[in-house]
Amino acid sequence: MKVYINGQLVPKEEAKISVFDHGLLYGDGVFEGIRAYNGRVFKLDEHIQRLYRSAHTFLIELPISQAEMREAVIQTLRANNLRDAYIRITVSRGTGLGLDPRNVVGPPTIIIITDSLSLYPESMYENGLEVITVSVRVPPAQAIDPRVKSLGKYINNIMAKFLANQYGAGEGLMLTVDGYVAEATGDNLFIVSDGAIYTPPASVGILEGITRNTVIELARQQGYKVEERMMTLYDVYNADEAFLTGTAAEMIPMVKLDGRTIGTGKPGPITKHLLECFHQLTREEGVPVW
Ligand code: PMP
Repeated sequence: MKVYINGQLVPKEEAKISVFDHGLLYGDGVFEGIRAYNGRVFKLDEHIQRLYRSAHTFLIELPISQAEMREAVIQTLRANNLRDAYIRITVSRGTGLGLDPRNVVGPPTIIIITDSLSLYPESMYENGLEVITVSVRVPPAQAIDPRVKSLGKYINNIMAKFLANQYGAGEGLMLTVDGYVAEATGDNLFIVSDGAIYTPPASVGILEGITRNTVIELARQQGYKVEERMMTLYDVYNADEAFLTGTAAEMIPMVKLDGRTIGTGKPGPITKHLLECFHQLTREEGVPVW
């Protein structure tokens, strides 16, 4: 297994960074999680664009272009001979002690890890997830904007996942500080009500998921009405169907929230239809590695 660090492909055991790395010391960095299916990288350009936007927001100037980053991902997959993979790009500001960015010595650290990852067993995709609402809220955009996929912000998501795990739930649903439904610890939420599809708006304080955008587009192509709408838990408890989307989890039905059965308690027909379309798209689309 080879890992890309700052332009070099090195064996996993030798892939090391400085103990002064600002990503390690302060969570001062940004990242992306991407998937490759059957030798094609799904939505690679969208992920790279989001990474560069996150970095731009944090005044981290990447030393390589988006085209070079794209090539680096492809080279790493090739070096590892991976056709199906989870790709993790991590960028940190650089190295230096003390939080003052003036003391950070660049260039930013760039790491690309490629590995296999299956988040849930197949049975969960067939039967659906049971989810609980957790007490951890998404940070408001006035503090740490959740649209930036930043390293430091994820301590919040890890705490939320801890809570979900404590209750044996498949995922934890987080609310905004005002109590509106936001997102799960690593996924966006959709509900189906009276044949229409609803998802919280990006402005509520969520990561604008690339899988989310893909599913919105897919659903509209299939003739469904899709609307971004503020929701409370009542809307989710009383939905006909619900599902979560994310690069790692892909698209997974959600059949229970806080002990309330959603719809029939089984993955619904619209969810199943979209899941099929999504799988087909992942097989057909993407940037070829070879
Ligand atoms: N929300 C959060 C908090 C996430 O970490 C992720 C995973 N990146 C998502 C939503 C889903 O985003 P995407 O579809 O781009 O993977």
